[in-house]
Amino acid sequence: MSEENNLKAMRHSASHVMAEAVLSIFPDAKFAIGPAIEDGFYYDFDLPRTLTPDDLPVIEKKMGEIVKADLPFKHREISKAEAKKLFSDQPYKLELIEEIADDKVGVYEQGNFIDLCRGPHVKSTGEIKAFKLTSIAGAYWRGDEHNAMLQRIYGVAFGSQKELDDYLARLEEAKKRDHRKLGKELDLFIIPEEIGGGLVIYTPKGGRIRTAAEDFWRQEHYANGYEILYTPHIGLSKLWEKSGHLDFYKDDMYAPMTIDEQEYYLKPMNCPFHMLAYKSQLRSYRDLPLRWAELGTVYRYERSGVLSGLMRVRGFTQDDAHIICTPEQMNSEVSEVLRFSLYMLNTFGFKDFKVYLSTRPSDAIGDEKRWEDAQEALRRVIEENKLKYEVDEGGGAFYGPKIDIKIEDALGREWQATTIQFDFNEPERFDMVYVGADGKEHRPYMIHRALLGAWERFFGLLIEHYAGAFPTWLAPVQVKIIPVADRHNEQAKKVAAELKGRGIRVETDYRSERMNLKIRQAQMEKIPYMVVIGDKEAADNTVSVRKRSGEQLPVQPLTSFIEIVTAEIDSKE
Ligand SMILES: [Zn+2]
Ligand SMILES: [Zn+2]
Repeated sequence: MSEENNLKAMRHSASHVMAEAVLSIFPDAKFAIGPAIEDGFYYDFDLPRTLTPDDLPVIEKKMGEIVKADLPFKHREISKAEAKKLFSDQPYKLELIEEIADDKVGVYEQGNFIDLCRGPHVKSTGEIKAFKLTSIAGAYWRGDEHNAMLQRIYGVAFGSQKELDDYLARLEEAKKRDHRKLGKELDLFIIPEEIGGGLVIYTPKGGRIRTAAEDFWRQEHYANGYEILYTPHIGLSKLWEKSGHLDFYKDDMYAPMTIDEQEYYLKPMNCPFHMLAYKSQLRSYRDLPLRWAELGTVYRYERSGVLSGLMRVRGFTQDDAHIICTPEQMNSEVSEVLRFSLYMLNTFGFKDFKVYLSTRPSDAIGDEKRWEDAQEALRRVIEENKLKYEVDEGGGAFYGPKIDIKIEDALGREWQATTIQFDFNEPERFDMVYVGADGKEHRPYMIHRALLGAWERFFGLLIEHYAGAFPTWLAPVQVKIIPVADRHNEQAKKVAAELKGRGIRVETDYRSERMNLKIRQAQMEKIPYMVVIGDKEAADNTVSVRKRSGEQLPVQPLTSFIEIVTAEIDSKE
């Protein structure tokens, strides 16, 4: 067995050991499934009472005893009839047995526990080297919310204690960066249950960050030859039929609403509106390329079980754009959009990403030559930019090939930011044409692209990337002014007004608290600059400046401090 498969067998074996431990504590436990997963394992149980975190050390201790006893994992093949008898009081196992096509089923046994299982397992429980139970969660049987809610215990397991310790240390660090935790501590956003799952409210500080990011985004789009569109949130069912969304995307859309006896759908994408804008005039080759962008808020159905903080939501704003061009322009447009994407991601501080090229699937529609050309264009620009990439052979959408750029969160999970997708479907469906130099009508190329992806998800990634300590250009509060005593409040007010006048985001702490406490608080809020005003500063119109890093700047005239801050904001570093 390879090392990876060995580890997997060990993790899966740990789940059986955990099940045996749970059985010893709850003799009436019903067992569902217990696979190995990345870094560890879980098992789903139906138990007479709800588990609490206090149960985990008790189960762990019992597991430790089973490991120490070094019990062999014994494999047997038995008939289905025998298996049904063996698991007669285990309804979940019976359901699984029913679905097995073979009339033989495999079971594994160790100590007092026997499980329906294909394996593989390690030879004995003693081979489970280092493990820890990490959390408890609710999980529906087979992931279906119409089924019973089970209790899932997660654990991690590694080949050595050192690897386990390293992993747990990384997990601790990731927890500190968790955007859900920081979002609360820094008061950036809320996702209240009262609205429904996956719907986000930006509180003022989160709103400041989003505004700074969007201002930059708009400015860069205009500078890069884009125009910005605004489109509605709902559209007639006829529109979504025409675009193909009701054929191919209906499961991700919300139920229609009836207005004046006509059905409207909430938009899951912005494309059809852009197509209509294109069709509103006769276009000539001289008008192309058109680069039309929109910060378009869309709504898509996600199962409640997969919603996760800002990373997976039901309502989100895409930094969308459609590029419509002639075949001759296609290569340079693709190249330009990738360059633009890398520039944007870099400016927001991301330097490491994973790049994927997805090619023609078997159910593809559209002209084969166009597919080839588009794939070649995508491949070439990735290589020109010297990016490492993986090819997902046949992984493109049926309507076109694409490049995806993914970013890792604090836990190392990959999330999509940029996507650059050709579309050979919608230009057909909307009969998009332009008049060429030959006076004839031609079909343009169309590219959908989002650079940051969904703003909500990107915001989550940003929070984790910076651990909440945003660079000055994005920080919701850039400067905190701290008067030492009440008698300095007047001067503090004057300094704040001057900074505000220069477009700097300022807050002043007028509370009659000790200076050190005020500094500590500003530090916890991760504010880039703290300006302390005491007797001397008030008399000389100077400022004493402390950076978030702890670095102390020399006492200086207010004007020179303003220059430092504005230069830093402009540099976006
Ligand atoms: Zn098993
Ligand atoms: Zn689109």
